[in-house]
Formats: sequence, structure tokens, C-alpha cells
Amino acid sequence: MSTSQPTPVCGRFAPSPSGRMHLGNLCCALLAWLSVRSQNGEMLLRIEDLDPDRCTREKAELLMDDLFWLGLTWDEGPGHERTHAPYYQSARRELYESALSELRAKNDVYPCFCTRAELHAVSAPHAGDGTFRYPGLCRNLTPAEAEEKSRTRRPSLRFRAPEDTVTFEDLYCGPQNINVQSTFGDFIVRRSDGLFGYQLAVVVDDALTGVDEVVRGRDILSATPRQIYLLRELGYPAPRYCHIPLLTDAQGRRLAKRDRDLDLSALSRRYTPQRLLGMLAHAAGLLEEDRAADLEELTALFDWSNVRRDDLRLPSWL
Ligand code: GLU
Repeated sequence: MSTSQPTPVCGRFAPSPSGRMHLGNLCCALLAWLSVRSQNGEMLLRIEDLDPDRCTREKAELLMDDLFWLGLTWDEGPGHERTHAPYYQSARRELYESALSELRAKNDVYPCFCTRAELHAVSAPHAGDGTFRYPGLCRNLTPAEAEEKSRTRRPSLRFRAPEDTVTFEDLYCGPQNINVQSTFGDFIVRRSDGLFGYQLAVVVDDALTGVDEVVRGRDILSATPRQIYLLRELGYPAPRYCHIPLLTDAQGRRLAKRDRDLDLSALSRRYTPQRLLGMLAHAAGLLEEDRAADLEELTALFDWSNVRRDDLRLPSWL
């Protein structure tokens, strides 16, 4: 008889330390945490600090203090070093470099010399998010042309997005079909300043650290098909995805970084962790009344089918 145990589900929280945690980030961390804990799984914390202009160690420390204050602990991550260390993306560049070499060897990436200004001139941004569909201007440069251009400009590297449609099942949003080429075009995996792109780093990290459940905000849903392409090319299985609705204020407006009173530095002075956890669980639809609750109670109550389908609205008393 086999005695092997099934591997526990591994979820993660992957914040960027570019500012103090606000309630939107915390709601996402809470649902990711509850989902994993309710399956007796493990939680990994990764600090997404690829951009040194926006992210600092001090901000990462504050972010971990905030999670700790709420009781959203992690089994693996900074302070809990296990097999997958390091947990700061800034210390994982060699892994991204080696994934990039694999993509290069398969001719999946090409150098792109276009500037933002040139792209603005030829294509219109997607509604709202300011991103562009890359029209493929450098896709078919000959090696000689690329060589010539690289004398005056350092290129970014783009992944050749296939023409087909990516299909995946989101645990929360249901079936998704997105054509990456017609929506985004070929996308950046390394910027011209040498920084690795978010899409590549996140894929390499989730795959190498054994993450098999990704819970994150719906604002990232459109990035997922690009990540699925990269996973496929690198030979990794895709995790289970769950993109949760965004948290809004009591009037239904999306939270922004300027809502300083909704970050934990202010909130932790006025409320207990249990009061804030209960309030978030109520906004998410898990708790009927808006009251204090601890993580043990919320874990027992947790069920994705009870999480609200529309935007999660904060109460007006905050
Ligand atoms: N680092 C991203 C953020 O803080 C999240 C990335 C992800 O969950 O894949 O918005």
C-alpha cells in the first residue's frame, strides 16, 4: 500500500513593496490565505521588488509587519527560509536570466528598439489602462538590421505571442478566452534598462516555488494569458487561478494609493485586527454581519461560492 501523502496546495501572496498596504491588497491577501488554509495548504510570501526606483527594503518590512499584525502568516518566505529561498525578486535575477536563455534558444523572443513615443504615434492605448497593443514593428528585423539598431539603442526583449486564443478556467470568473496577439501583441520580458518584466518573473517564481493556486485582483486577469504562454514555453504546468473582484469605497469608487486613510498605518491605530478582518470578510460576502471575527472562524466559514460576484464595497463607517 502506498504511504505517500498528497502534496498540500501551495498559495502565495506576492505584493510589490511600493507603498503601505491598503485594504485592497489586504483583502486579496486575506482571501488567498483563507483559501489555502481551508484546504490545509501552505502559504508562501514573495516580495516583488524588481523595480528599485519604486521598491525598498524598508517598505517590504512595513508590508510584512502589516501582514503579521493581521495574523496572515506565511509558511515560507522572508523570516521562514525553506527550500525555495530567496524570496525577494531582486535576489532571483539569475533564475529569470536562465529562463530567458531558454526562450532565446527557442527563438521565442526578439529585440525591440521602439520607444514609447514611437509606439504612441502608431497605436491607441487600450481603454482605461494606458497600455498598448504592440504592432510588431521589430518582429521581423533581420539580424543585420537589429545589429545596426543596437549601435545606438539598447533594446528591450519581446516574447512572440502566438496567434491563437488562450483558454483557461478561472476559479472565480469562470471560463476565459483571450487572444493575446490581437489584444496586447508581443510583450516585454526584459526592459531596455535590463529589468526583467513582471510577466516573466512571476511565471518563473510561481513555477519554481511550487505555487499551484494564485489568488489575486481582477485587475491582473488580463495578464494571465500572457503568463500561461510563458509557462507553456518553459514547460511548467499552469497554477489554478482565481481573480477576485476589486474593493471599492462605500460609494463604489476604486481604491487608490491616495486613500491614505485606508492604509494600515492609519487603520491599525483605530481598530483591532479582528475588527478589520471581520469587516473585510463581510465586504467579501463571507460574514453576514459586519463584526469582529478571527482567522480561525473565517477559515471554517470560507467557501469560494460565498464570495460576492460584484465589486466588494467597504462600509461607510471606515
Ligand atoms: N506584485 C503584484 C502586485 O502587488 C501582484 C502580482 C501577482 O499577484 O501576480 O500588484
